[in-house]
Amino acid sequence: MKEYACGDVVPGCGAVFRVDGEDEMLALCTVHAQHDHGLTEPQMPDDLISRIRAVIRTTA
Ligand SMILES: [Zn+2]
Repeated sequence: MKEYACGDVVPGCGAVFRVDGEDEMLALCTVHAQHDHGLTEPQMPDDLISRIRAVIRTTA
């Protein structure tokens, strides 16, 4: 399982996601960013994706 706490990248956001794979995680984060963080692009910018990848944890 992969775990991502959005607060690690966006201070103050309490959203935490747990999914099976990193690609799924990024897809989920994109939707979350569009709904909750005002992302208007169909995709997150590369620098944001890098920051998210850096803090995704692998859990049992
Ligand atoms: Zn968030």
